[in-house]
Amino acid sequence: MDIEFNIGVSFFPDNAKNAQDLLAKAYVALKHAKEGNYPYKFYQKEDEEQLIKQIQLKKDLEKAVKENEFTLYYQPYVKNASSEICGAECLLRWDHNGKIIAPGVFIETLEATGLIEYVEDFIIDKVAYFQKTILTQYKKTIPISINIAPNSFKSKSIIRKLTNAIKKYDLDPKYLSIEILERLFIENFDYIKQILHTIKGLGVSIALDDFGTGYSSLSYLSQLPINTIKIDISFIKTLETNQTSYQLVKAIASISKNLNLKTIAEGVENSNQQKILKDLEIDCLQGYLFYKPMDEENFKQLLNSTIYTI
Ligand code: C2E
Ligand code: CA
Ligand code: CA
Repeated sequence: MDIEFNIGVSFFPDNAKNAQDLLAKAYVALKHAKEGNYPYKFYQKEDEEQLIKQIQLKKDLEKAVKENEFTLYYQPYVKNASSEICGAECLLRWDHNGKIIAPGVFIETLEATGLIEYVEDFIIDKVAYFQKTILTQYKKTIPISINIAPNSFKSKSIIRKLTNAIKKYDLDPKYLSIEILERLFIENFDYIKQILHTIKGLGVSIALDDFGTGYSSLSYLSQLPINTIKIDISFIKTLETNQTSYQLVKAIASISKNLNLKTIAEGVENSNQQKILKDLEIDCLQGYLFYKPMDEENFKQLLNSTIYTI
């Protein structure tokens, strides 16, 4: 039998002047050892500061969930051939103390604490309601995709959330799509495959996000009900300067075409990148060159004033 352990070490009198404090410091070191999967760690002041920040963030996020401080931004993407809007990604923002905070600061903690489950309830309901409103007002809309955290697949709660929202707003599911990450499949491939097939059965489409950064085992592309591949921003950033990035995007374009998958390039910022992606026949483009993420009101106005097709 293998036994795994982590040890946290603190020193008297350097780290603390009494037994209680000394234990607390050892606990900080132990927490750091556990999180980083180290066999042992010595107490360091920076780790304690980090831990305090993390605890505060967790508290703030619990309050944010209770008081509904989250809001959604939308970033449209366009058809490569015509630059017409053909879909949008919804991106979570935290409206905290009068500031709009991007997910880089909090998404990991929301996921690690399980709070993301509650936030996803809000996101899916809000997007479905938004779609219903747009369809009623403008008679047409575009598909909106929602980022789903890998943990939401463990409990299958994602199926219930999507089903409820579609029913509640009597929404055509073709206007909803989810974005998932490759790391979702590493464990329990068959279980995830079954959930994804159920989601596809609802009529919701599935996009594989950040493609090329993870394991990118090509065999699963043909086994899973994926509709769209989103080519990671890192390849687009270096498309013009790095031959490997260019060749990778070219290969992804060719595989996707053969497997009948739609391609979206993320993070397109200049017209040279656009030109290269046009030559490579990537279907859709998302990035600051076209639109930055915008709040609901601006997105609504954009949909009202622009020609768009699915
Ligand atoms: P992502 O899913 O890859 O989303 C794309 C990110 O790239 C967004 O950052 C977007 O604002 C940014 N982006 C788009 N075009 C450009 C561009 O031309 N240049 C540059 N530099 N950036 C561009 P954002 O909104 O800060 O989101 C960051 C990440 O947070 C997302 O990456 C996603 O992984 C996560 N996230 C956002 N919303 C949600 C959510 O509702 N649920 C979950 N689970 N994760 C979310
Ligand atoms: Ca995404
Ligand atoms: Ca992405």
